[in-house]
Amino acid sequence: MSPEEFRHYGKQVVDWIADYLAGIEQYPVRSRARPGEVRAMLPAHPPERGEPYEQVLADMDRVILPGITHWQHPNFFAYFPANASGPGILGDLLSSGLGVQGMVWATSPACTELETVAVDWLAELLGLPDHFRTDSAGGGVIQDSASSAALVAVLAALRRAEGTTKRIYVSSQTHSALEKAARIAGIGSQNVRTVDVHPETLEMDPARLRTLIDEDVAAGLTPALVCATIGTTSTTAIDPVRAIGEICRERGIWLHVDAAYAGVAAVCPELRWINDGVAEYVDSYATNPHKWLLTNFDCGVLWVRDRAPMINALSILPEFLRNAATESGQVIDYRDWQVPLGRRFRALKLWSVIRWYGAEGLREHIRTGIALAQRFASLVAAEPDFEVRGHHPFGLVCFRPLRTDVLELMERVNASGALYLSHTKVGDEVWLRMAIGAPTTTEAHVDAAWAALRAAAQSR
Ligand SMILES: *Cc1c(COP(=O)(O)O)cnc(C)c1O
Repeated sequence: MSPEEFRHYGKQVVDWIADYLAGIEQYPVRSRARPGEVRAMLPAHPPERGEPYEQVLADMDRVILPGITHWQHPNFFAYFPANASGPGILGDLLSSGLGVQGMVWATSPACTELETVAVDWLAELLGLPDHFRTDSAGGGVIQDSASSAALVAVLAALRRAEGTTKRIYVSSQTHSALEKAARIAGIGSQNVRTVDVHPETLEMDPARLRTLIDEDVAAGLTPALVCATIGTTSTTAIDPVRAIGEICRERGIWLHVDAAYAGVAAVCPELRWINDGVAEYVDSYATNPHKWLLTNFDCGVLWVRDRAPMINALSILPEFLRNAATESGQVIDYRDWQVPLGRRFRALKLWSVIRWYGAEGLREHIRTGIALAQRFASLVAAEPDFEVRGHHPFGLVCFRPLRTDVLELMERVNASGALYLSHTKVGDEVWLRMAIGAPTTTEAHVDAAWAALRAAAQSR
């Protein structure tokens, strides 16, 4: 494809995306495709001769769109948001256009240095401590996901800890990514200890954590890492980082904070309380701009207080990567801060988003999401046939109907196509999860979603 052909089709693609986003409300939120349906519409064999790009675009409408669940739909309330935005999309397009592979500084200095600036900016926007900035012993790095961030933290912690059998500690509410990281790191699920949570708040119980650690130390095992969560996936519970941190500090245990969803809320000063204890006690901290901060998937940021154990765990220098810049020690090679060697220029989309919205715009986005969640929660609370469950300081509201089967109600509204929400289980109760946070969601959408839920509960 020549640059002129690219220009021609590129304009069509941008128009296609703009039309899609402008008309997104016409689609059922959750795809109605049945298993195998998309595949059946596609040829079994690749074309022998190249095709005009118009045919690809035609198939986007005919084949792909019916198989899409519309994550950017204002009535998408399932899981957590995966915000996309104009500047995020454009930043990703610029990254594709450059086609850079930024494994080391020398393979594109701007890829590394823009990333350094973007993660330092984000640390500042979130009010994170200075020791997470790159001009300290620590620093930040963009990972593909919070799962990768957790794996890197586990590898660094295992590297730092001395001992033969190392253990990590999570709560029953911790994301499964931590157990997966333990398996990948080779210590196995059997060395992941699960700490009980408070039955109401679902926060990790620090006294119980201390007991498990004491038991393990007495048995000759080495506690290597504790993962605290700020905003659990199930219900946005917040572990007591300060109390957990005191235990970790006493015993020299690595404390990782998984704030994948909720961490970005700290762009608002009034929400910085969620990070209480982070500055004093935390060794690594992860949050995902690709969830609630308008940056297209994938963009997870990991910060560490001290980069040395991470680099010791992950650095390998084969001959073919030797270069003067690396040897000078004056540059960062982010390949040593992640599992793969190769890396995309993800900083472009994060930088585009921060520049387009500014701190003000980012705060406004988070505040709007929270205000809509509060509105939804008060609508639910005013209805005797429903109850709000748990807390809702962010964009997620958990609730349940009292006279209808929860999963049946959920399936009825999701099948209608009008909205899409998901569920969780806490103890013996099934809760519905209404996760608000798309930039296009307004009060009208939230009110209509509530009306649809109420109507579905009454028409059982
Ligand atoms: C979403 C989420 C994850 C996983 O995020 P990925 O970026 O998809 O790996 C991990 N932890 C928490 C608390 C989450 O909410």
